[in-house]
Amino acid sequence: MSQRVVIDSLVFVREGGLLQGELPVAGLARALDMLADTAGELSYRVQGRMGPKTGQSSRPQLFLEVDGSLSVCCQRCLEGIDYPVRIRSLLELVKDGEELTQEEIEDDSKDFLSAQKELDVVELIEDEIILDLPVAPRHENCVLPDTGGLSKKAEKVEKVSPFSVLKDLKGKVR
Ligand SMILES: [Zn+2]
Repeated sequence: MSQRVVIDSLVFVREGGLLQGELPVAGLARALDMLADTAGELSYRVQGRMGPKTGQSSRPQLFLEVDGSLSVCCQRCLEGIDYPVRIRSLLELVKDGEELTQEEIEDDSKDFLSAQKELDVVELIEDEIILDLPVAPRHENCVLPDTGGLSKKAEKVEKVSPFSVLKDLKGKVR
C-alpha cells in the first residue's frame, strides 16, 4: 500500500522541481494510530526553489503543501472527528558541515532539513502531518461509548461462511 517518492533534494531545487500528487491516507503508516478512518486521500505539492539572499548566499528550500481532511480519533468516545489538513511548510536545506546562525534557529517561519541525496518525500509529508495533528482531540459534546451515543461502528456485518452453507445443504440432501 505504501508508496515511496524519493528525490535528491539539492538537484530537485537546482532544477526548480515540482512534485504533486495524491497520497492515500491508508499509506500514512506512522499516523494511522491517531486516525479513526483511513479512507480517502490527501493532495500534496512539493516545490523546490532558492531562498532569499541572506548575507553572501541563499539556501535551497522546499515548500511543502498538504491539503485534505483526516478523521482523527476522539479521546473520549473514540469516534472520528473531521480534521481539515492545510499544511504550508518551508524547509530550508542545510548541507553537511554548514552551521546555522542563532537568528536562523530562532526563526519560526521555516524549519531546517539536512540536504539529503535520497529524501523520501512521503516520509517527510508524514512527519509534517504528525506534527500538525491535534494531541488529544475531543468532540465538543460527546458521550462515552455504551451510554447511548450514536455509533456508526455499531452495525455489525454478519459473515456467513460458505462451509456452513454447504453443511446445511448436505443435511437437506439426505
Ligand atoms: Zn467524542
